[in-house]
Amino acid sequence: MRLILLGPPGAGKGTQAQLLMKRYGIPQLSTGDMLRASVKAGTSLGVEVKSIMESGALVPDDLIVRLISDRLCDSDCLNGFILDGFPRTEAQATSLDQMLSDRGISLDCVVSITVDQRALVDRIVGRFTCKSCGIGYHETLNRPRVEGVCDACGGKEFFRRDDDKAETVMARLTAYIQQTAPIIPYYKEKGRFLEVNGMGEIEVVQELIVNDLEGRSK
Ligand code: AMP
Repeated sequence: MRLILLGPPGAGKGTQAQLLMKRYGIPQLSTGDMLRASVKAGTSLGVEVKSIMESGALVPDDLIVRLISDRLCDSDCLNGFILDGFPRTEAQATSLDQMLSDRGISLDCVVSITVDQRALVDRIVGRFTCKSCGIGYHETLNRPRVEGVCDACGGKEFFRRDDDKAETVMARLTAYIQQTAPIIPYYKEKGRFLEVNGMGEIEVVQELIVNDLEGRSK
């Protein structure tokens, strides 16, 4: 299964990608996570993108395309993958088409998660993540079952993303509206496209996606 998850920051792409990853045993390719790992490790890529990410702008297409192109060569992508946060511009969508045709593969579905824009800021500023396993939580929408303890791994340390501050969220939303939303019509016309309302409970949104992917309608 080869999927793209599209949607503004805070729509729940990462959360849905993690559930799909578990269900189908395919990796989540999150360009945001890859970049954050580079920043943390202090690689030359990390140094180059740190301030761009902190500002909420998009990093240059050529860097991202190289990152994904290399990652798609890894053996765990042979049976499929979930692209989370890529492509985000027309140029990235075109490069992805080329990468897929070079490999003789195609996408099974593009899933676009829509959300009420007024809810996005609250969704984003309330997010926190387990330091050891990377599972995401939210102060009001999705707290760990036991306060301060990760449901998945028992970890007790959590962190918040540097760019999840209210000041940066508007810049990230603007980047989405101006640079990413314009690629939606392209995918709508191109092949299997699913639009889901991301305002529901995490499990409900997941069910909508899975039902469609598995050919069940509700
Ligand atoms: P995300 O975790 O997907 O919200 O991404 C966090 C930040 O990483 C974004 O605000 C961008 O600065 C950068 N980023 C992630 N993916 C991309 C991409 N496909 N193109 C350009 N910048 C990206």
